[in-house]
Amino acid sequence: MNLARFPRIRLGHMPTPLEPMENLTRLLGGPNLWIKRDDCTGLSTGGNKTRKLEYLMADARAEGADIVITQGATQSNHARQTAAACAKLGIACHILLEDRTGYTDAAYTKNANVLMDKLHGATVSRRPGGADMQAEMEAVAATLRAEGRKPYVIPGGGSNPVGALGYVNAAQELVTQASDMGLRIDHLVHATGSAGTQAGLVAGLVALNSGIPVLGIGVRAPKDRQEANVFALAERTAQHLGLPGIIKREHVVANCDYVGQGYGIPTEGMVKAVKLLAEQEGILLDPVYSGKGMAGLLDLIGKGFFKPGENVVFLHTGGQVGLFGYPEAFDVAADLAR
Ligand SMILES: *Cc1c(COP(=O)(O)O)cnc(C)c1O
Repeated sequence: MNLARFPRIRLGHMPTPLEPMENLTRLLGGPNLWIKRDDCTGLSTGGNKTRKLEYLMADARAEGADIVITQGATQSNHARQTAAACAKLGIACHILLEDRTGYTDAAYTKNANVLMDKLHGATVSRRPGGADMQAEMEAVAATLRAEGRKPYVIPGGGSNPVGALGYVNAAQELVTQASDMGLRIDHLVHATGSAGTQAGLVAGLVALNSGIPVLGIGVRAPKDRQEANVFALAERTAQHLGLPGIIKREHVVANCDYVGQGYGIPTEGMVKAVKLLAEQEGILLDPVYSGKGMAGLLDLIGKGFFKPGENVVFLHTGGQVGLFGYPEAFDVAADLAR
């Protein structure tokens, strides 16, 4: 596998740390828990989209783009990191935000990621929940083209074979890091949404023949659809890498039992997971992705899914800024009143 031949613009602080979670491991008495800190990629408070954007923005620049268009939910971390990457590279950015949750409070609609989109100088327009966001982006791009601009459209979550290269790179980084530390990784667990993270990891780990199984904890789609999306993108990513056919269907595993009522809607398990990591490890998770991912991991540990002595790495995909869009979910106001 030769990643170096793909254009890349450095945007993040890498390698991100791989650390033990000793308190949590002791408390749960289960497998050895580790955390890969992709919340620390640095770009505008960091997160997993930074790695994808290193390849996507290089592609945008190669195509001579003067404006990037992307989309996400109102509190999209991808939108925030894209806005920051565009600011750094001097490319304009337009973001389409889909109202996927129906929340109307100011914290959700104006604070957190939305505040940062605007701080980075992106223009933002809104669409109702359920809109065909890819079609909406294409329509905006067509208008801009007619005005003589050169738009570059990044799909939601930056999840296409170019963006997924960021997680092929992460797979390589993780395998090297673990080998340097003498750590045998038995499981890699993370939150999966638009599929690029898991697809890139699976493609990279399979290409490296690492034997490390990946478990995606879903935050939106049901298991069948999530696994199909990840598998399709992993196959396309492998093809893009010049390694067609290496991905087997069984390499792709998602557990979508922790979504709750829907994308971006808090669950009790998420709140407990966010509080537990904050109190035990001093680590902040996010309410939409890593909190639900960790809720799944904690529940599976409780059910004996992992063997004692196994080393389980949780990939922290970032998103903590989103906490400020959900103050009520954590009863912060109630605590302050006490
Ligand atoms: C986007 C995102 C994910 C999911 O990654 P995908 O590549 O979209 O599956 C997980 N965690 C956070 C914090 C994210 O912003």
